[in-house]
Parts: sequence; C-alpha cells; structure tokens
Amino acid sequence: MMKEYNSVSEPFLADVRAVVGDANVFTEPEKLEQYKTDEEYDPRRFRVPEAVVRPANAEEIAAVVKLCNKYNVPLTVRSGGTSLADGAIAVCGGIVLLMERLNKIIEMNTEAMYVVAEAGVRTVDIQKMANEAGYLYAGDPCSAESCLIGGNLATNAGGSKAVRYGVTRNQVYSLEMVTPTGEIVEVGSRLKKCSTGYCMEQLVMGSEGTLGIITKVTLKLQPMPPYRFDLLAVFDDPFKALDVVPKIMQAGLNPTSMEYMDNSYVRACADYIEFKGAPHYEDGIYVIITVETFSEDELDMKMEQLDELCEAAGAVEVLEADDRIWAMRRNCQESISLVSKVSLTDDVVVPVDRIAPTIKEIMHIGSKYPFPIPVKINAHIGDGNLHIVLCKCDLDDATWEKIVHDFHEEVYAYAYAQGGRLAGEHGIGAKKLAYMEEFTPAGELELMRRIKLAWDPNLILNPGKVFNA
Ligand SMILES: Cc1cc2nc3c(=O)[nH]c(=O)nc-3n(C[C@H](O)[C@H](O)[C@H](O)COP(=O)(O)OP(=O)(O)OC[C@H]3O[C@@H](n4cnc5c(N)ncnc54)[C@H](O)[C@@H]3O)c2cc1C
Repeated sequence: MMKEYNSVSEPFLADVRAVVGDANVFTEPEKLEQYKTDEEYDPRRFRVPEAVVRPANAEEIAAVVKLCNKYNVPLTVRSGGTSLADGAIAVCGGIVLLMERLNKIIEMNTEAMYVVAEAGVRTVDIQKMANEAGYLYAGDPCSAESCLIGGNLATNAGGSKAVRYGVTRNQVYSLEMVTPTGEIVEVGSRLKKCSTGYCMEQLVMGSEGTLGIITKVTLKLQPMPPYRFDLLAVFDDPFKALDVVPKIMQAGLNPTSMEYMDNSYVRACADYIEFKGAPHYEDGIYVIITVETFSEDELDMKMEQLDELCEAAGAVEVLEADDRIWAMRRNCQESISLVSKVSLTDDVVVPVDRIAPTIKEIMHIGSKYPFPIPVKINAHIGDGNLHIVLCKCDLDDATWEKIVHDFHEEVYAYAYAQGGRLAGEHGIGAKKLAYMEEFTPAGELELMRRIKLAWDPNLILNPGKVFNA
C-alpha cells in the first residue's frame, strides 16, 4: 500500500518562506511546469510539483526537511535534472528542492590532492579547476557540462574514465548530508584506509536522494598523466569489436576509456554534430580507446600493442581518434532526438567477460519485437555497461508499452543470469522501480527497506524511487 501525503498547504509554504525567503519559493504554474520532468520525454511520466524551493545552504535544507516531516509533504531533490531514470521527477507530488545555490568550490588542496565543493557545483567546473592546477578529477559522466556533483554522488555516476579510475564512489573521501529527518551530518573521512565502523558515505552514494540530501563533498584528485593517445578501431562485426576488450585487459594496458558505438550511433552522432566524412560512416562499428601514461616510451609501447591487438581482432582500420570522434561519443544520448521524440535509454551492466554474449542476446531479443528501428547500443565496454536504446517513433502508446515491457523482461532476466544488474550508472529512479522489485533477491531488498525505514521513518525523501519502501 502506498503512503498518503498531504498536499502543500499555505501554512506549510509560509513556514518554508520564513526559512528560505519569499524569492526562493515558487508556486507559479509556469515556473512549476519547468520541473515536471528531467530527461524523461514521455509526457505520461511527467509530474508537476506543487512547489519548488531553492535553499542557500545545508542549514536551510535541514529546516525545510523538518517542515516536510512536520506537514507530511514529500521532497524530491533536483540537481542538474539530467536523470535518465525519472529520478528528479516528484512522482508523489510535494516539493522539488533545487541545489543550484550551493554552487561554491570551497577549497582545492593540490598538496594533499583533494577538493571540497558544495553539492550544487557543476561537475565540469570541478574538472576544469583541477585541470588548470595540473590535476585530474576522474569522475567524468558524458553529461558533465549540465549535471551537478551532488547528483553524480546520488546516482553513483559512471562515465568514460571508469575503466581506469572507477565510478563516482571511488572519487569521494567524505560528504556532508542532511538526513531525512533534518539533521546535518558529515560522513566519511580523508583517509587512505579506514576500518572504523560502517562506511556510511558509500551507503549514501547511489541512494538517489532517498537516504539524505548531499550538501558538500570532499573529492579526490589524481595526478594528471602527461601523455595520452586516443585510438579509434573500426570494425565491421560487433563480435570482433567486443572480442578485443578482454585481450586489452589481459595485456595489462590499463586504458582510461574503452567505448563502443554500433553503426546506427556512428551515423546518428556524425549527423548530429554535422561531422561530414566520419570514418566508415556507412557500416563502421567504433571502439574508442584512450591510454594515458607518465612516460613517452610507455605510451609508444602501449600504442603499438593496442594497434596489434585491434588488427589481430579483425579491425578494418585503426586510426587516431580526434576530438570529433569523442564529440560523437559524448553526443550519443542527444543524437537520438534526430530519430525519435520519445525513446528509452537502458543501462544494463554485466561482468566484463559477459558483454559480448549479452550484446548478441540483446540484438536477438530486440529482433523479435516490432520496434520501428532496430535496438541501438552504445556501451562503456571496458566496464560491462550497456546503453540499449529503444525508439518509439510513431508507434501507438499501447503497443510501445507492451513491447518495451516484454523486451525488458527478457533482457533483464538474461542480464541477471549472467551475474548482471539493472543499472550500471543511471540508477533505478521511478523508471525501473517495478523491475527492481522483481529482480532484486528478496533478502537484499528487505535489507534496503529496513535501512530506508530506519533513516526516513516518515518516507519523506524521494518517495516512489528505487523500490517501494
Ligand atoms: C546527455 C546525457 C549523458 C549522460 N551521460 C552519463 C554518463 O556518462 N554516466 C552516467 O553515470 N550518467 C550519465 N547521464 C545520466 C545523468 O547525467 C547522471 O545520472 C547524473 O549523475 C545526474 O546528475 P544531476 O545533477 O543531473 O542529478 P538529477 O538528475 O537532478 O538527480 C538525479 C537523482 O539524484 C538525486 N539527487 C540529486 N542531487 C542530489 C543531492 N544533492 N543529494 C541527494 N540526492 C540528490 C535526485 O533526487 C535524483 O534521484 C547522462 C545523462 C544525459 C542527459
């Protein structure tokens, strides 16, 4: 049974205004409309919030959370609103809380190699600041220009550097958060090792705004490797392209990135960024590999080895990947708009050694359903993470719903049988909640429920997300 919430009332709004100021509470319909969706394009999934609140700091957020508990009003946090899982949509109504005013980088310490930032700083601004000082912040989702660092922690975002550096949770020392009952707490530490009790910061990361509102983060910096090479291996057969992945790993080449684009993406992305003369536009399948080193000799040696491995795997051509190839990869998501207004981007993850059979099976499953255009696939192949895209085009709603559901049932069952999971980096949000309930082992789901209820007894934070609490 779903919990019932109260509507946003005038007394509630008056109390919230007293905390954040009149100018930071919005109730005008045209303003609320802006927050009815994130990167969801299916209008049936939109939900206009009852109010939008723009606090300035953790203290104000804590006070607003306490009011939400007092008045029984749900709260959905929104950072950049780039969620691909309906994560920032207020599916149970209530308020949307914007993080955009918590936008200061507080400290960068290059000696000790860390950055402290408020949660509303854009990811790209942290990357830039680190780069300008000669360091690397290794979190790198393709949406870095528009997402905020708190959103990255909340979803445990991945991205194109995860093969070498890991995902967002590997870049974080500690975080400050507002708990679901309105206390400000700092969890984690700036330690290389620690076995002092539960690892709370890791529990909060990836919890998608259901266990706390992240307000400040301490992030790791990495030394910036001075030598880099980007290679594009073009294949005419997806399985040859995927075969090269374990060989590169086994050779110890430690690439920073290994990305895959099927030919439908090669064409759509080249068209989207207007790149005339993209290599093998008509039939090429791209594997983009980045290697970074601290010495020129090591780079030369690794490039030579990579070249040999790709050719031995049957690459049609091996080229240097310039910025335009990376621009194509970064625009995979946006390029879909050229073919369909409504689409669904999936995020299945499997063990790296199961990625080739999984792609093969997904293509087979996809071919059984009448999708207007064949299933599209791009992937962070170095970490087993597949983005499967389904396009609605002008299919009617009922057929679309049915075939998407049946397709997903088959794909997820296969992925779990390989030891995989529903989401590698986008999270579950509201979009995959039913599948989360269906596919997560009962014992694990029950533990998650108990944690949620212990931390958020009134179910105030981001209800209707991840699983039914
Ligand atoms: C073009 C494009 C490319 C993308 N590429 C990648 C990619 O390479 N890798 C990847 O992992 N993802 C990618 N994504 C998905 C998305 O960008 C990530 O999930 C990102 O981390 C979301 O950050 P955000 O700031 O936009 O958060 P939002 O979308 O605003 O929120 C996401 C979720 O986190 C919660 N949340 C947000 N801020 C906080 C906070 N401060 N405290 C607690 N909870 C919070 C929200 O309630 C919501 O559930 C892409 C999306 C797009 C549109």
